[in-house]
Amino acid sequence: MSAVKTLILSVLIMGVSGSLAHAEPMISNGVGSWSFWSSGGAPVTPTTALAVATPAPPVPTPTPPPVAVAAATYTVPTAAPVPPPAPRFSNPIPPGGTADAYLNFSTGPYPEASLMTTGGAQPWFTSPVVEKLYGGQAPNTQQQADFTNAVLDHVNQTFQLSGGLAPKITLDPSIPANHTLSVVSNTSYGANPNAIGITDVGNSGFSFIDKLSYGSSINELEWAVAHNVSHELMHAFGVSGHDDQSGNYLDAASAKWELLTSPTTRFSDAAIADIKARAFAPSSSGFTAGGLQLDGDLEILASPVPEPTTWALWGLALSAAVVQRRRQLRRKTN
Ligand SMILES: [Zn+2]
Repeated sequence: MSAVKTLILSVLIMGVSGSLAHAEPMISNGVGSWSFWSSGGAPVTPTTALAVATPAPPVPTPTPPPVAVAAATYTVPTAAPVPPPAPRFSNPIPPGGTADAYLNFSTGPYPEASLMTTGGAQPWFTSPVVEKLYGGQAPNTQQQADFTNAVLDHVNQTFQLSGGLAPKITLDPSIPANHTLSVVSNTSYGANPNAIGITDVGNSGFSFIDKLSYGSSINELEWAVAHNVSHELMHAFGVSGHDDQSGNYLDAASAKWELLTSPTTRFSDAAIADIKARAFAPSSSGFTAGGLQLDGDLEILASPVPEPTTWALWGLALSAAVVQRRRQLRRKTN
C-alpha cells in the first residue's frame, strides 16, 4: 500500500518538476504578440523560445488526475515561428551611401527649427496625441521603434504608388542625408498655427504630430504621419507649390482626414513629374534674392468625428440635466 503511495508521489513530483522545467519558455512565448523589431531595428526572432517549448515531455502512464491537469498546459506552443515582417516597400541605402532623406524621430537636434517653428520642439512620443493612443503614457522604446518603422514603410509605399518613385529614406541618424524631416511635438509654424507641417523648400522640414489629433488608432496615426511626412518631403525635394487643386491627391494644399489616412493615397501625376525632375537632390530653388521660401503649410480640411472635448461637454450637459431633474422630483415628493 505504502509502496503504491510512494510511486504515485514520485509520479506527481516528476510531473510537477517537468512542468516547471518547461514553464519559463512558455510564459515567454505567451506574452501577447511577438515584437520583431528592437530599438536598433534588428529583427528579433522567437525561434529559441519556441524550440525549447515544442517537444512534449514524457507523460507517465497511468497518469493520476493532478499530473494530467499539469500535462494539459504542454500543448500550448505548437505554432511555427513567424518570420519578422520585413518592410514591404524598403529602398535600402548601400553601405557608405547617402540617403535622400532622414526621418528624424529623435530627441533632437531638429535642423532649421528656429527658422520654421515656434514653441520649442519636443520629441514626438511626448505628444498628447500619441500618449492618448498608448494608454495615457508615452510609448516605450519597442513601441516607438514599431511606430517609426511603420511610418517609414508607409512613406515608401506612398512614393512607390506615385509612379514608382523610390527616394532612399532612412531612420538612422548616422547615415548622411540630403534632407531631414523632423517629426516633433509642442511646436507649430508661427505664421500659420493650423499647418500640420512646414518645409524650407529644397532643404529640410517638419511634421507637427500634435495637429493630427483625429487619430482613433495607432495605425491611423501612423498613416497620417506618413502622409504628412511625404507631403513635406515633396517640398524638401524641391517642389515649391501645390500641383493638385482637386484635393484628391497628397500634393494639395489642404487634405481631408480620409485622404491623410487612406493607404491608397498618392501624389498627382503633375507632382510626380515635378518630383522626378528634381531627383530628390538638395536644391536652392526655394531661395529667392530676398530670403527664404517656406512651403508645405498643409492643413486638415474637416474633422471626421466630434473631438473628445466635445463629447465630454455633451456628457457634462447630460449629467447636469439628470441631476436637475432628480432635484425637481425630490422637491415634488417632499
Ligand atoms: Zn505643402
